[in-house]
Amino acid sequence: MRVLLVEDEVELAAIIASALQRAGVAVDLVEDCSSADAAWAAVRYDAAVIDRGLPDGDGLDLIKQRRDTGDRTPVIILTARDAVADRIAGLNAGADDYLLKPFDMGELIARVHAVLRRPRDGLGAVLRSGNIALDTLDRSVSVEGRPVQMTRRELGLLELLMRREGRVVAKAAIEESLYSQNDEVSGNSIEVAVHRLRRRLEDSGSTVGVRTVRGVGYFLS
Ligand code: CA
Repeated sequence: MRVLLVEDEVELAAIIASALQRAGVAVDLVEDCSSADAAWAAVRYDAAVIDRGLPDGDGLDLIKQRRDTGDRTPVIILTARDAVADRIAGLNAGADDYLLKPFDMGELIARVHAVLRRPRDGLGAVLRSGNIALDTLDRSVSVEGRPVQMTRRELGLLELLMRREGRVVAKAAIEESLYSQNDEVSGNSIEVAVHRLRRRLEDSGSTVGVRTVRGVGYFLS
């Protein structure tokens, strides 16, 4: 899962970004509306977390602009303003949820997971394929109830394949979902990640596996 974080307070932004990364989310961090707009137009994000008071404008205007183009990416706004009118303005602008500063990181993570689970994808908190279950909230995988240890990246890859079960997921889409703009992605990073996940599933007795469509991508079957 990949999230756009728009926050100009450097220390707070770093804390939020690392909390999201620990929760298995790839984060692209930008500090103003114009960079956010450029990143958002280029990448299909799973969600966005947006501060209102930005150096070049109000985060709400950014959301309105994206909504006007038909973009339905789930958005959580961060706001220091406590007035009811401000919250209503946020939701009217097309935000899905809001958090008042200061907030607890655990709550932010829970809200991000909640917007990711909403009917846009029509999926609950636990994804299932064959005898595999992936809990998207506590980031755990089990095969027939037995826990399977995975790295964050393997789990992210499995989640992506499970969310699109039966459909081929292009290599480029995997790269876009698993890695943020700052990550170094070498030529065979995706192959290596797929290879590891495939071995992990085989060793755990999974009834589904990662199939390759040469030159195109991968699917779960
Ligand atoms: Ca701010």
